[in-house]
Amino acid sequence: MRHEIVSVKRCSSYDRAAVQEAVDAGFALCGGIESFVKPGQRVLVKLNLLMKRKPEQATTTHPEIARAIVCALQRIGAVPILADSPGGPYTKGMLDGIYETCGIKEVSRETGCLLNDDFSTSTRYLSSGVAARQLDVIGILDKVDAVISVGKLKTHGLTTMTGCVKNLYGAIPGTTKVEYHARYQDVGLFSDMLLDICACVRPCFSILDAVVGMEGEGPSGGRARKIGAIIGGHNPHAVDAAGARLIGLEARQVTTLEAALRRNALPSFDLAGDPIEELIIRDFDIPMGLRRGSWVRMMNHLPQAFRPRPVFTHHRCDGCGVCRRSCPAKAIHMNENNRPVVDIKACIRCYCCQELCPKTDIAVRRNPIFRLLK
Ligand code: SF4
Ligand code: SF4
Repeated sequence: MRHEIVSVKRCSSYDRAAVQEAVDAGFALCGGIESFVKPGQRVLVKLNLLMKRKPEQATTTHPEIARAIVCALQRIGAVPILADSPGGPYTKGMLDGIYETCGIKEVSRETGCLLNDDFSTSTRYLSSGVAARQLDVIGILDKVDAVISVGKLKTHGLTTMTGCVKNLYGAIPGTTKVEYHARYQDVGLFSDMLLDICACVRPCFSILDAVVGMEGEGPSGGRARKIGAIIGGHNPHAVDAAGARLIGLEARQVTTLEAALRRNALPSFDLAGDPIEELIIRDFDIPMGLRRGSWVRMMNHLPQAFRPRPVFTHHRCDGCGVCRRSCPAKAIHMNENNRPVVDIKACIRCYCCQELCPKTDIAVRRNPIFRLLK
């Protein structure tokens, strides 16, 4: 495995010029954009567009990051296509609203870059997959020459952190993700499946939007937290490892990085650019206050009954039913007041409900016994 360079560039706001400068510098530090994309190539820029949220809510890749990558690609004569497949149906109607609210349509209008409107799917076979030997993926992947994974640095109830590897779960079409959650219930197996997707998609470059991230109940119910950096590199695991360091996590605390370590997929790397020590956030609030790798591993091996559970507060809930429809275990029903109730015995702790609730009404809480042991 080759020794990697990961660029870390300070970027304290989404000011257009500052973001462009940091993104360009990141590409340059890693050998230049032309070292991995050629003029005329169609490049899928895989954003994290988890749900219909405004950029300032820090749930989705910021449009200024998308714009800077688009401009860099267009400058060398490549053809960028902005895309994602969030939870819910993978349809034009669904994506249209998300592109608009997340500020991505405006990027397309102003730069002329394409928004993915190909909603076909395709099947890939992975002879060396560890968890998955066959994957259904979004069809646009077969129609591009290269992929850039553009993650958002956030906490995540299942994997501890989401970055550029977890971002590629969006290569799985819409509601098929629900099936995969049901199939890969163990978090270790699920993380192995994420690494299989990453190996299948093979992003040529990965960029982590860590200008403003999300702490607490991520990836959608937490708080926006300024971090002030953009990270980039050829190897998505190395980029995520640098991102984890930025928010005070060790690689083994993030389940995708733990899987990468186990599978010898995390290369050695040098950091280039600005000194990461000056950017590390030492009190970043990660889910359930878990700050030690042993805790994460232990939690993931506990029987379901003891593992952190989704809690529905009904404070902001409007009864939309997204949680019920996205529950792979069919563990949620609506009560007589049209509010969700979870059958905790049937719950497989995938946290899809928390991730997709538009009202951030669902929290993930540890078993009371373990809360005492914090
Ligand atoms: S997704 Fe959220 S707002 Fe919608 S029914 Fe479930 S808890 Fe309520
Ligand atoms: S209730 Fe939530 S966490 Fe439990 S299985 Fe359903 S979607 Fe997953």
